[in-house]
Amino acid sequence: MRKPFIAANWKMNTDMASAVELAGGVAKEIAGIENVKTAVCPPFVYLQKVAENLSHGGNLHLGAQDVYFEGNGAFTGEISCEMLKDVCVEYVITGHSERRHVIGETDELINKKTRAALDAKLLPILCIGELLEEREAGKTNAVVANQVKKGLAGFSAAEAVEITLAYEPVWAIGTGKTATSEQAQEVHAMIRSLLAEMYDQATAEAIIIQYGGSAKPANTEELMSCPDVDGLLVGGAGLKVESFSEMIKIT
Ligand code: 13P
Repeated sequence: MRKPFIAANWKMNTDMASAVELAGGVAKEIAGIENVKTAVCPPFVYLQKVAENLSHGGNLHLGAQDVYFEGNGAFTGEISCEMLKDVCVEYVITGHSERRHVIGETDELINKKTRAALDAKLLPILCIGELLEEREAGKTNAVVANQVKKGLAGFSAAEAVEITLAYEPVWAIGTGKTATSEQAQEVHAMIRSLLAEMYDQATAEAIIIQYGGSAKPANTEELMSCPDVDGLLVGGAGLKVESFSEMIKIT
């Protein structure tokens, strides 16, 4: 059985004090909950402080929002996998739509980052999702399938099961427009059958597929009741102790 996985992507939000308070508050609220995997992904500069303040052995894990694929060297402004591990990071988001569409990351770059993360024993959360115009043009499945194939290119079945996929329709991110549970389920089921084609049924059944895009306490139960929705990648609602911990408790 797939264990539900609820993660918060804080994006470029919080400051040192509020980051520590938010992570600490969530950790306290969800202490003792063991049926759900949880993580928070603060900005790079707050990772260490947040790690220091999370109680060891607690259920709230630490993730980063991005990583660079090279080990070290002349890559001004970039952060390596080993640097993340140095500050107790376990998960790393790759291919978030804001990196694809605002920063201009390609599928090839995202694949290299995901590869570097997994090789370094970080757990990637690989994001995929279509733009509004792609959905309206009936291209959702083609776009998402292409991102999954390119993102996972070169990964064996044994490796793929270590990777969480996050389906985040771009038109639902930060807009208040959640995909309906039917829309989410339809794409998640398509992704899972694609994974079965790429690998095998057992591998497809083992891979966690999160939904992201205006997920909040009010729609958590419905989204999580979809058979192929295994978790949530939460933006805005992950910035408040009450709403994020409520989502974990509902799950
Ligand atoms: P919102 O929950 O704010 O729509 O953001 C979703 C997201 O992009 C998480 O990575």
